Amino acid sequence: MKLRLTIILFAAFVFYQSCQGQTNQYRCPPCGFNCHHTLYDAPGTCPTCQMTLIPISDSKIKGYHKSEVQFKNDDIVLNGVYYTPYATEAIKGAVVIVHGSAPSTHEDVFFYTKMASDLGFSVLAYDKRGVGKSQGTYEYFSVSRSTDWFNLLADDLVAAIDWLKRQPELVDSKVGLIGGSQAGWIMPLATHKSNQVDFMIIGEGVSISAGEEAYFSNLTGDGVTDGIPISEADQKLKDFDGFTGFDPRKILEDQKVKTLWFFGTNDPVIPVNASIQALENFNNPNHTIQILPHGDHNFLNTKTGERYDLTTFIRPWLMSIGVYH
Ligand SMILES: [Zn+2]
Repeated sequence: MKLRLTIILFAAFVFYQSCQGQTNQYRCPPCGFNCHHTLYDAPGTCPTCQMTLIPISDSKIKGYHKSEVQFKNDDIVLNGVYYTPYATEAIKGAVVIVHGSAPSTHEDVFFYTKMASDLGFSVLAYDKRGVGKSQGTYEYFSVSRSTDWFNLLADDLVAAIDWLKRQPELVDSKVGLIGGSQAGWIMPLATHKSNQVDFMIIGEGVSISAGEEAYFSNLTGDGVTDGIPISEADQKLKDFDGFTGFDPRKILEDQKVKTLWFFGTNDPVIPVNASIQALENFNNPNHTIQILPHGDHNFLNTKTGERYDLTTFIRPWLMSIGVYH
């Protein structure tokens, strides 16, 4: 899956963010090279990866108080922002936003932060380990390091959940996790380590191993470089016998946390059909699958050109599991 999700979501939401309180500094979007730390005083192109620089923004949400916060996983300090409604009686719950594979700051996941605020949640979003103001070392995805790296990221997420649970206005709130792509591996792993999560919403995540995912992505070229069609890659994936790296199957089979999965039928970035099949084979009622016909990795309906509004599916689901009353 590499880095596509964050990059494309960026394009869709830069305009939105450009309307917000941005500074006049610029940086490279999350990309496959280590150039996101450099700051520029003017718009232009990143000299390393040639991508268009994006403004550094300081997104605000109407009706929400915003504060910068820090929390620790062992000796690593992670930096984030906490958005919470001024009207505390309006809080419908609290969520942590979880990153995809790209080197993402809290601003880079603002698509999900905004969506969570639309749903009435208090929101904690943070800079991924080694990115933005968070300490530690960022790692690009690799199958060989996937088990160690995902466990580290899940521990960071547990620290974020613990921070949220300590906020006095959230004492009676249900706590959830929202994120896409790589977050689909990290979030269930975190619930395996913490019993403080009530629900999860996973956008275009993977329910099979890192090795299978990487194999599929190489076959399709993630839809960006030359690759074979999704249907052919699905067939070849059935014969995969390589090193699996991190495999979430056992955790997902026993998953106690109510989970809503979104899958687009035209997503070449992750093995959608194999992931749906695996979830169905678990026969675990805590998993709910929402198919987005013609949807791509960024929830775009590739037939109509319109982006799906995920909240229209999420609201009734939250009602069905008792988070909304
Ligand atoms: Zn760059």
